[in-house]
Amino acid sequence: MQMIGIGKGNPKIGIVGCLHGNEKIGAEIIAAVKDIKLMPGSLVLIIANEEAMKEEKRFIDIDLNRCFPGDVNGNHEEKLAAAISKELEKCDYVIDIHSTTADTESFIVATKKEALVLAQAVPINKIVFIEPVIANGKSLIDNVQCGISIEFGNQEKAGAAKEIIITCLQRISKARKHSDAKKAVYSVYGAIKKGNADPALVNFQQTALDGETFYPVLFGEKEYREILCLKAKKSPIQP
Ligand SMILES: [Zn+2]
Repeated sequence: MQMIGIGKGNPKIGIVGCLHGNEKIGAEIIAAVKDIKLMPGSLVLIIANEEAMKEEKRFIDIDLNRCFPGDVNGNHEEKLAAAISKELEKCDYVIDIHSTTADTESFIVATKKEALVLAQAVPINKIVFIEPVIANGKSLIDNVQCGISIEFGNQEKAGAAKEIIITCLQRISKARKHSDAKKAVYSVYGAIKKGNADPALVNFQQTALDGETFYPVLFGEKEYREILCLKAKKSPIQP
C-alpha cells in the first residue's frame, strides 16, 4: 500500500485506487491529482493493492473490496483492508476508483443514502445504488463515513477520468460550483445468472426479459463468472 497525505484542514478527502490490482486507472488518477492544491481541504491518496498490481491480478488471496473493515491478523487483503481503514478513519469523504471491462458509460456507486450528497459533486450522470447487503456490508464504501465508488467504463479515456476526479475535488472543496443537473439513480435489486443461451443486453437500457422489466448494469464485466448482469430499477431516491 502506498499512502500520500497532502495539505491540512477540512474537508479531508480520501482517494483510493487499485483496490483491484488489475484496474490501473486508479494509480494514474492519483499520480495526476497529487499536485493539485485544495483551498481549503486536504487529501489522503492511497494506492491499495500493489502486490496484486505487480502480478497483474485482481487480488492475491481474496477480493479486497469484500473484506472491510479488515483484520490485522488476516490474509494479505484482510491486513490491507485494516491498514486502509485506519488511514481513512478521519476522512469526511472517500472516493474509491474502479474500472470495468463492461461496455458501459461510467457510473457512480453508492451504498448509503448519506453518500448521495457526495455523488452530486461528481460530473457523471448515473448513480447505481447498491444496498450494503449485496457485498455483505464488507465493501470499502460500506465502511467509511461518506464514500462512493466510481466505476469507469471501458470507453472512458484516462485523461477524461482525471478531469472528472479533479472537478469533483474542486466542487467538494467549494472552489467550483456544483452542477444542478439531476442524476438518474438505478437501484440494484438482484442479478441474472449466466445460462446456456444468454441474450445480448445493453447497459442502462430498459429491458424486458421473461416478463420482467429492468435496467441491466455491468453486463459484459469479465470478472463476473456466474452473473450475466445486475438488475436495477430506476429509483425514487433523490439526493
Ligand atoms: Zn474494481
